[in-house]
Amino acid sequence: MIAAMRAAFLAVGSELLGTDRLDTNSLKLTAVLARYGVELRRKAVVGDSVEDVARELRSMIDTVPLVLVSGGLGPTADDVTREAAAVAVGRGLHEDAAVIADIEEKFRRFGRTMAAVNRRQAQVIDGAEVLWNRWGTAPALRLEEAGTTVFFLPGVPRELEGLTEVYVIPWLEEHTEGVSRETRVLKVAGLPESELEELIAPAYGEFGRESVTVLAKPAEITIQVTAVGSAEERRHRLEAMQTRLAELVGSAVYSLEDEPLEAVVGRLLVERGETLATAESCTGGLIAERLTRIAGSSDYFEGGVVVYSNRLKQQLLGVPEDVLEREGAVSEAVARALAEGVRDHLGTTWGLGVTGIAGPGGGS
Ligand code: AMP
Ligand code: MG
Repeated sequence: MIAAMRAAFLAVGSELLGTDRLDTNSLKLTAVLARYGVELRRKAVVGDSVEDVARELRSMIDTVPLVLVSGGLGPTADDVTREAAAVAVGRGLHEDAAVIADIEEKFRRFGRTMAAVNRRQAQVIDGAEVLWNRWGTAPALRLEEAGTTVFFLPGVPRELEGLTEVYVIPWLEEHTEGVSRETRVLKVAGLPESELEELIAPAYGEFGRESVTVLAKPAEITIQVTAVGSAEERRHRLEAMQTRLAELVGSAVYSLEDEPLEAVVGRLLVERGETLATAESCTGGLIAERLTRIAGSSDYFEGGVVVYSNRLKQQLLGVPEDVLEREGAVSEAVARALAEGVRDHLGTTWGLGVTGIAGPGGGS
C-alpha cells in the first residue's frame, strides 16, 4: 500500500492548444484521483508531436508513480501517442493480432470493413497491456516503466470515462488505501456571496478552513464540504458539516444534492400537485428554458410568455398601464402583475414574473 500517491496527467491533442477546445478530461480524472487520496502534482497539454509528447511523458514517468495520458489514440497520422510512448520508454511497437480482430469485428457489426488506417490502432508498445474498449474502436493501454504505471486512454470523453470506471478505478482500489476523501454539497440561491461568507464563518472555525469551500456562479452558490478518513468517519463528518451549514445559512439552502434549482422547484410542484407558468421580460425565455430542461417538467410547467414590450405586458397579461407608468417596467409592482397575469390567463397554480435590466451595460 502506498500512502498519498502522486500522479500526473498529460492531455495530447493540438486542438486543445487552440481557442476552441478545452481539456476537460483532466477534471474528470482529477476528481477520481482525489477520491482515492491521490495528489495530482502536474498536468500538461501537448500538441500532436512525437517529440513533445515523448519528452513530457518521460519527465512525468521519472517524477511520479502514476501517469494518466488522454488522447492521440485515433487512427489518423496526427494520433501519435503510441509512437511517442514507445520513444519515451525506448521500446518497440508491434501489431497485436487480437486487437486487429477486435477492431475488424466492431466494423463488421456496423456493416463496414476496417480501413487500412485503423491498423495503427492495433499498434501496442512492447510489454504493455491491452485494455479493451467497448465504447470505441481503439483499445487503451497500460504500461509499467521504471516503477511508474502509465494509462493511455482515448481522448473522447465518453470513452475515457468508461475505461476509467473499468480499469483505472480498480487499479486505484488495489494500489491506494481505497476511497479516502469524499465531498458533498449544499446549493444556495438568493444570497450574495459576501453575505453567505459571513453566515458560514463559524463553520470555518469548527471544521477547518480546508473542509469548506464556496464556489460561486451567477445566481447560484455551491458550498462544498470535504471529509477524509474511513467510510464511517467521512459519513459522520459530512453529515455534521451539512447539518451545521444548513442551520447557519437557513432557507437559502435549496438542496443538499448536486442538482439545479429548477429540479428542486419541479420536485416540490409534483409533490403538491401544482402547476407553474412564467412571464418573462428581461430574461427572454431563459427561465422557461431552464424549467423545461428537467425530465418530466411537462407534469407541472404549463408554459410561458415572453413579454418584452410594455404594450404586450398590458395586452397579453393585463398589467395595468398606470402601474407601468407610476412604478416603471422594472419594479416589484410590475413583476407581481406579470406573475398574477400569467397565472390567471394560463390557469396555473403559480405564476412567475421576471422583469429587470439585463443588458450589456449591467443588470438589475
Ligand atoms: P483523440 O483521442 O485525440 O483522437 O481525441 C478524440 C476527441 O476527443 C477529439 O474530438 C477531442 O477534441 C476530444 N478530446 C481529446 N482530448 C480531450 C481532453 N483532454 N478533454 C476533452 N476532450 C478531449
Ligand atoms: Mg487527437
